[in-house]
Formats: sequence, structure tokens, C-alpha cells
Amino acid sequence: MITLKEALALSKDELNNFKEELRSKIEANKDLNAYIDINNVGEGVPIAIKDNIQVKDWSVTSGSKILQGYIAPYNATVIEKLLDNGLSPFGRVNMDEFAMGSTTESSIYGKTQNPHAKDRVPGGSSGGSAAAVGAGLAVAALGSDTGGSIRQPAAFCGIVGMKPTYGRVSRYGLGAYASSLDQIGPMTQNVEDAAILYDIISGSDAKDSTNAGKDDKVVPNLNANRKLTIAILPNYIENASQDVKDAYAKAIEALKAAGHTIVEKEMMDAKYDISAYYITATAEATTNLARYDGIRYGNRVEGKNLEETYYKTRSEGFGDEVKRRILLGNFVLSSGYYEAYYVKAQKTRHIIKDAYAKIFEEVDLILSPVAPTVAPKFGELANPMDMYLSDIYTISVNLAGLPALSLPIDKNAADLPVGLQLIAKAYDEQTLFDGALSLEKAVAYKA
Ligand code: GLN
Repeated sequence: MITLKEALALSKDELNNFKEELRSKIEANKDLNAYIDINNVGEGVPIAIKDNIQVKDWSVTSGSKILQGYIAPYNATVIEKLLDNGLSPFGRVNMDEFAMGSTTESSIYGKTQNPHAKDRVPGGSSGGSAAAVGAGLAVAALGSDTGGSIRQPAAFCGIVGMKPTYGRVSRYGLGAYASSLDQIGPMTQNVEDAAILYDIISGSDAKDSTNAGKDDKVVPNLNANRKLTIAILPNYIENASQDVKDAYAKAIEALKAAGHTIVEKEMMDAKYDISAYYITATAEATTNLARYDGIRYGNRVEGKNLEETYYKTRSEGFGDEVKRRILLGNFVLSSGYYEAYYVKAQKTRHIIKDAYAKIFEEVDLILSPVAPTVAPKFGELANPMDMYLSDIYTISVNLAGLPALSLPIDKNAADLPVGLQLIAKAYDEQTLFDGALSLEKAVAYKA
């Protein structure tokens, strides 16, 4: 597959031919179930769009039955930015229902396969985006990351996935899961493409009050030769699988060989991240999902009266995982438990943020695993608790609002990709991309 950089240099005719070929290729690989639709807007370079980002006049369902039939009335800001920069939204890609999940198994459109092993998950929730890019069925894609949903599927599918600093990219037109954690980001074949797409979608937007209004760009200053100080976290990776430990060791050697300084740091026990994240995310999700009542959006199941219409619509429209989280969110926000759970989670969030800040007093970047294992088989994370625990390496980054980038490092003995992530200070995407470019060159991963 041609890279985003190469695609941006094609003529209009070449692009149109390329899109025709791409359509047939997607058709020929339908089994993968990465795409749920192959609409196209405009004449630009095709970019696959996760099913929770609004594209005017396209269906947008967040992988949920409750939103089937809903047509987006406007473009998300990121879509306007794509169109302004010679890119085209091209194709809807699959996702876990309302971005809740780590495997893309909970979509109303069925499972997406991992392009490296058809019996394994592509990761989630942006599994369709990752599988499309990983299978050579997309030049690049947009995903969203609330607790790892860009970085983890990127790692499982052998591609690059980047979560920007909270506030960098407008959330206007993104279906909200947990508003204080959600960010849209690029999913690409390599680090340079991620930087190009990141530059295009980031920046100020008056339509999102949490947008930081920063417009500095990375690509003009991209520099793989900077010598950086990079923290590694020996205590953090103790519970990772041998595949991940091996990739970690390989990355450390590669970074040293490239002239970076490696220092050992200790990160607080990740078990607190899980609790703080699942309390915060479900509390916010409960509030955000209250709007799906059968009256304003999508699917309605008529009842005898208004209350029964709400009840039937939500009972039949939401899947099990979404219902579980609505219940959990209501519980942690309820009057008797608010202080014990929600307030405590917010305090823990601050402690996590401070723990990162302390490490960043002395280093430029942190090297961390993305997931404890390679992509699991379908059904392996069927127990919700196992699934939540598999997020240990990604969610603290969202709780602290930091930028992070996951890139492929190696393949294990079964030829499955293993990715790792670099994490940077808030708004220091420049150093993140510079370091990632250097690491990418140093490990020379073969797709
Ligand atoms: N797996 C995490 C969750 O289910 C993260 C999902 C995401 O980042 N959207 O909440």
C-alpha cells in the first residue's frame, strides 16, 4: 500500500484510479470485516473513518443498534480539516459499540479479524481502523482513544497509532464516550504519516470548549537525530508476557544504539489506574449516553407511553457491555457512593498525573508496553474483568491527558506483531514524533 505521503503527491487521475483499485481490494477482503461501508466524499486521498466520527450525510452509529438509521447532519471538525487539506473521508470502519471495549467484538456489524491471524482480535475499540491499515486496505485511518483504543489495536495489527494530548484535536462531531478522556488520532503505516495526519487534524477550534487552541505543527521540524533522555519502567513490565518483555529489551538496545540516554524510573502500581479509569469512564459514559432515548436520534422502539418507549428503546438498542457500563456509571455517581467512588477516582487521577510529571522532570519520553500480550484469540477476553485488566498500560496516559504513540517493534515466534508506546509531556508532540521516528528507524520492523 502506498503511504499517505506518497498518496498526497498523486494527480487527480491517479488518485481516482487508486480509489477504484482500493474499492475492489476492500471488496475482495470482505471477510476481514474492517469496513462497514465504502462511501466517499470529495476527490482527495482516501482516509478510513471510525464509525463514531460524523461525516455529513453519512450514517454514524458508533457500532450500535440504537443509532442505526441516524444520518449525520454536519461534519466533525476533523473531517472539515481533512477536506481542507486534500484528503477524503473514504469508508466507515468497524468499532466496539460506543468505543467500549478492547477487541471490536461488541459491534452490531460483527467481529473484525486481525489481518495477521484470522482467529485473533484486531484490538479495540478502533479495530476496524487498525485492521484496514494493517491489511493494506487503507492508506491511513482515524480512530479515537479514550483508554487506549488507538494505540492497542495499532499494536495488535502492526501499525502506528497516536493519541494526541487532551485538547489538541477538536472533539466536535465525535460521539462522546468519556468526554474528559476522548481524543481523535491518526492510525497509519509509519511514523511520518502519523505526523502528517496529526498536523492536519490538530489545532484550534472554537466549537470545542476543551480545545487548547494550539496550532503549532510537527512536520516542519521533524528530526530523528535529536538525542533524548528516555525513561524505562522495569517495575511496570513485570507482569507483561515474554513477547512484550522481549520487544521491550529490543527497543531499549535500539534506542541506546541510536544515541539516546536510557534511565530507569519507577511508575506507581498500575492497578489503581484500572479503578480510577473505569469509574471515571463509566460515570461520564452514563451521562453521555442518556441522550439516546429513541426520541432524538436513530432507532425507536415504540411503547404504550413515553416511559415505555425510553425503556424499550434502550433495552433493545444497547448491547450488554454498554448496559453494564451504564449501570456501573450510575452506581458510582449515586448519592451514597459518589464520594467513595467518583471523588476518590478523581483524586487518584491527580496522583497519576503527578507521578508522570515527576518522571518528566528528568526525561523527555517514557517507553512503555501497550498491552500485556499480543492480540488474543476471539473470546479470550470474554470475561469483562479480564478485558478491563488488559488496559493497564494505556489508560493512565488518558487519565493524565498526555500524548502517546504506539509503533510496531517486532514479531513473536508465531509471526504476530508486538508494539510499544512512547509517552511525552502534554503538548510536546514534537518530541514524541522525533523520538518515535528514531525508534522506528532503529528497530527496522518488517511488516
Ligand atoms: N478498552 C477501554 C475501554 O473499554 C478503552 C476504550 C477506548 O479507548 N475507547 O474503555
